[in-house]
Amino acid sequence: MKSIHNRTLLSLLLVVCACAYAMPVLSWGQEGHRIIAKIAYDNLTRRARRAVDQTLGDHGIIYWANWPDEIKSDTIYTESIRDGWHYQDFPPGLTDAEVADALVHYPAEGGNLYRALDSIKSEIINHKSETNPHTLRFLIHLSGDRYCPMHMAHMDDKGGNAVKMKWFGRDTNLHSVWDEKLISSQGYSYTEYADMLERAYADRKREIEQASDADLLIYSYHITEEIYRYQQTWDGNSWHYVYRWHEPMEFQLYIAGIRLAKVLNEIYK
Ligand SMILES: [Zn+2]
Repeated sequence: MKSIHNRTLLSLLLVVCACAYAMPVLSWGQEGHRIIAKIAYDNLTRRARRAVDQTLGDHGIIYWANWPDEIKSDTIYTESIRDGWHYQDFPPGLTDAEVADALVHYPAEGGNLYRALDSIKSEIINHKSETNPHTLRFLIHLSGDRYCPMHMAHMDDKGGNAVKMKWFGRDTNLHSVWDEKLISSQGYSYTEYADMLERAYADRKREIEQASDADLLIYSYHITEEIYRYQQTWDGNSWHYVYRWHEPMEFQLYIAGIRLAKVLNEIYK
């Protein structure tokens, strides 16, 4: 395995500024990233699947999908990589054009997810045959984070981390509910969940593949804003929360999986 100190990954470190939450954030959580990785893998071309398998080695895409969260305490990586790569905050009340603009003119603060993803993708395209496995692991993971609603949330509440909630009697926060608790509330294994979503949303697959990044970003932003509005009127009943939000959460997982497959199929065509 190549060293993390190699030139290509170091060049990525230099282009991304350091921005950090005051408290730790995870991503979709282990199960969410595994669901996304499985949906993606199921939708890869044979050529892309072979390239991904060769680069990642025997453990494969599911195993490595959570690695960028696991290294968050490893100071060999900069603060920006360990934290800021995983999210991009947005203020409330933006127009659709203002949201889409984040993909072109990366915001200067509140994370650097889109800048990191663009850098990583071009890094892989430029060194296809000798892709650093670390770089591919980041692409797989961050492609999931970009569709996690609380990873495009408000900076002033630290992406929902400062929005306190009770979840079935236990103290938690809005960020954690969306990273993990909504998913685990359904009681599926990651394979069961991925298989179920691929069946349930098969008729939306083409639409998702053909949508632009901007369209999907705007769609996801409106989901996030609706989550914040719901928070104002929620009666505090966790079952009501699950009933209202599990389907939108599942659709975000499906979008993330199909879009990751699309990116990998385009890179390894
Ligand atoms: Zn993450």
